[in-house]
Amino acid sequence: MKNINAFKSNPESRDARAILEWALGKFTPKRLLLASSFSIEDQVLTHLLSGLEAKARVFTLDTGRLFEETHAVMRATMERYELAIEVYAPFETDVEALVSDGGPDLFYESVEKRKKCCEVRKVRPLKFALSSADAWICGLRREQSQTRTELEAVEWDEGNGLFKINPLFNWTEKDVWQFIRENNVPYNKLYDEGFRSVGCAPCTRAVREGEDVRAGRWWWESPEHKECGLHKSPVKGKGA
Ligand code: SF4
Repeated sequence: MKNINAFKSNPESRDARAILEWALGKFTPKRLLLASSFSIEDQVLTHLLSGLEAKARVFTLDTGRLFEETHAVMRATMERYELAIEVYAPFETDVEALVSDGGPDLFYESVEKRKKCCEVRKVRPLKFALSSADAWICGLRREQSQTRTELEAVEWDEGNGLFKINPLFNWTEKDVWQFIRENNVPYNKLYDEGFRSVGCAPCTRAVREGEDVRAGRWWWESPEHKECGLHKSPVKGKGA
């Protein structure tokens, strides 16, 4: 098994499988969780994990506002990899209070209200899911947005109090698609309609030629606000 410093010292590393193997050796597999939103990146990771002997758990957050196409690829993924995916939903009382107070589409009214919705539908369920983990695996890539340019293979996630593993930190979108095509990995059909990142239905749209990958997420907000609270800036340098 490689030392994690090999990935840190080689900024060109794209060996996602080796990073996953390192993580599975470093952490108890039952306490290592892959967070999947069924993005093309997460599908690459699910595919790679399925080929490894030790298995991390796979979970998803069903916000209650997902596209039908996302549920379709979830079904296809469970079948293809014979995988039990853990599903975490928002707490019912939180959603009732959120919608009673702000209405079903409060997120269009202000960044603050949008973040409140993400907090209820994503961040709180995520914290609950991660309470049974020592590390989580994500499909983040540096080139996805201006908020992710300094991503590392392994980071300390201060907000959630555990390690975050980013095996695709250095992959390009082209690398991801090449892997998907070569391995016939199931993917969300919305990508064929111009989507380049898929989140909740009311907050995601297709992007135009030349636009940023995440331009279709919360398109009414400015780029520096475009995170949902799941991926806050990490603390660098804490050794795994
Ligand atoms: Fe709510 Fe939109 Fe955030 Fe989904 S992406 S949790 S609908 S604000």
